[in-house]
Amino acid sequence: MLTLKGISTSYGAIKALTDIDLTVGKGQIVTLIGANGAGKSTTLRSIMGLAHPHAGEILFEGKVINRLPTHKIVGLGIALVPEGRAIFANLTVLENLELGGYLNKGNSGILKADLEHVYSVFPRLQERHAQMSGTLSGGEQQMLAIGRAMMAHPRLLLLDEPSLGLAPLMVQTIFEAIAKINREGTTILLVEQNANLALRKSQMAYVLETGRIIMQGPSSELAADPKVKSAYLGE
Ligand code: ATP
Repeated sequence: MLTLKGISTSYGAIKALTDIDLTVGKGQIVTLIGANGAGKSTTLRSIMGLAHPHAGEILFEGKVINRLPTHKIVGLGIALVPEGRAIFANLTVLENLELGGYLNKGNSGILKADLEHVYSVFPRLQERHAQMSGTLSGGEQQMLAIGRAMMAHPRLLLLDEPSLGLAPLMVQTIFEAIAKINREGTTILLVEQNANLALRKSQMAYVLETGRIIMQGPSSELAADPKVKSAYLGE
């Protein structure tokens, strides 16, 4: 579904990614693990057209997308839930969700069905629909950020550190929701610092180190690898 071929991305003189090859198969959950600054967010930003690779190619369903503007990439069916969530604090939960559905603006039937779908995955958002988003808990804000991305009907959802800063019970809730979204047919590329959890929840995984892919394979195999265990799983 998604293929990165030889992607290199720099910020000025800083090389963030070097020659990245990565594939996400339709229907999969693929995880990208790596330490702080390894280039995980830059990988997602490159896919979304928010960072600009100077070499390589990104294909989505066979179409080259790495020169397209972000809104076109969203229109093709890719959505990003950025690290830090980036919701609009001074808007209500409902208003944030409606903004996520802007591509279907004017079609109130679709908007209503999409809202119901988001509420079926996150009942808490329905309860809180009139609340100012800035007053939600961290976990509820993460639900809202994912819900807002779902409103754009992504076939591929990119999630940047969805468990960051959340209590264990909330992490479980969020990951159950991610599994449900995936079962319903959305392919997922997941960036996580919580490598233990990410490897348990995904089929395929890549390990990034200082901008390069150093390992890849089925998540269960990586989770059993001595190097991954000592460097990323704290064992
Ligand atoms: P983290 O887990 O800390 O978010 P990451 O793996 O997502 O890390 P990136 O955020 O992709 O890593 O950063 C990769 C490298 O690029 C780092 O060295 C970082 O300092 C640098 N970098 C990221 N964004 C910018 C930017 N806007 N300008 C300059 N350098 C940047």
